[in-house]
Amino acid sequence: MNPISPIAQADKAAPRPESPPVNLLGLDGAALASLVENWGDKPFRAKQLQRWLHQRGVDDFEQMTDLAKSFREKLARHCEIRVPGVVTAHKSADGTRKWLLDVGNGNAVETVFIPEDDRGTLCISTQAGCTVACRFCSTGHQGFNRNLGVDEIIGQLWLARRTIEADREGARLVRGAPVQLGAGDDRVISNVVMMGMGEPLLNYDNTVSALRLMLDDNAYGLSRRRVTVSTSGVVPMMDRLARDCPVALAVSLHAPNDALRDDLVPLNRKYPLSELIAACQRYLEFAPRDFITFEYVMLDGINDGDEHARQLIDIARQVSCKFNLIPFNPFPQSGLKRSPAARVRLFAQRLMDAGIVTTVRKTRGDDIDAACGQLAGEVKDRTRLKERLAGETRFGRIVEVRE
Ligand code: SAH
Ligand code: SF4
Repeated sequence: MNPISPIAQADKAAPRPESPPVNLLGLDGAALASLVENWGDKPFRAKQLQRWLHQRGVDDFEQMTDLAKSFREKLARHCEIRVPGVVTAHKSADGTRKWLLDVGNGNAVETVFIPEDDRGTLCISTQAGCTVACRFCSTGHQGFNRNLGVDEIIGQLWLARRTIEADREGARLVRGAPVQLGAGDDRVISNVVMMGMGEPLLNYDNTVSALRLMLDDNAYGLSRRRVTVSTSGVVPMMDRLARDCPVALAVSLHAPNDALRDDLVPLNRKYPLSELIAACQRYLEFAPRDFITFEYVMLDGINDGDEHARQLIDIARQVSCKFNLIPFNPFPQSGLKRSPAARVRLFAQRLMDAGIVTTVRKTRGDDIDAACGQLAGEVKDRTRLKERLAGETRFGRIVEVRE
């Protein structure tokens, strides 16, 4: 079931006090402006409200002190600020954090934060499950549950920023406490990648609303190139994204010819490589100085041979691109194996010798920003998940599990 669109929610909220509260985290700038306008309030109120919500991470209307009392009362009557409940929160020694978030009906999604010297990357999910069913992906093996709403997508960023900032300040996370979030170079989350669970371009409208909030100067103010959508190749939606919100684009390629890609990424049967490459070229017309990042998971004996490298080089010559080679993160049902490190190095060398910028991603735990999807394997034990969810679904409750 698709969540109700935020604009419809906003329109419904104003006149009828008995209607369910509107989750403000689900409203992008335009939807929030329309809610405020419906109430007959000044447009700048929407911007003020956005800054409280997203820049300062405040979830208590009482603390929004520069808003008129009558406006705050209306907000309290008709609206709420709600993020998905935290089932578990892990923090590794290297600073990597993972949250497992409850999105209802026994479903959970994962959010990952990866700190590096010069940036902090948040990897977020856009769907519970995925319909694309790639052979090497545990999310794909899980099947599709539902699209996440804008509130659930942006809620991951909201929660991660607030938690990290609160920790950094040495403060305990107290619900309702105003936490001044960082800005400019100081900010802890400098990049967002949609590489968690799900196919963002098959949840198009909610993904784009969330992207707009990420770029909005009154919300997260991230630059276009620091926000990446990763797609398995939903060609028509790549064209729409180019027009609507041309952020950085990563394309999960994984195979250099149609026969192999049909098998690994079943969506290829609908949008074969020639169409995918043409869509990449069109995308770059809207972002001329950009490049496409091709993701390529290295599967032992499947897609890691010399011939595959040669075919990839032919593809790479057709579009301005970089390559990320990802070590496969195995899971039992896949029947696939990770390519040996020596093979990955040789493969990378072939591409680099042809002048292609190539990064070999380290294995999970060291460097996971290019392949957060692989982490999903850890949360698929649905029996255990249901047990955990039973006691831990309250908003804001955090179970800290340190590794
Ligand atoms: N659906 C989108 C985004 C989520 S998947 C997409 O497919 O691009 C994010 C990345 O994780 C993709 O590049 C995907 O191929 C990769 N991935 C999925 N399962 C993996 C696994 N088991 N090992 C390594 N990478 C994996
Ligand atoms: Fe879906 Fe991406 Fe996993 Fe493929 S790799 S099943 S598109 S989440």
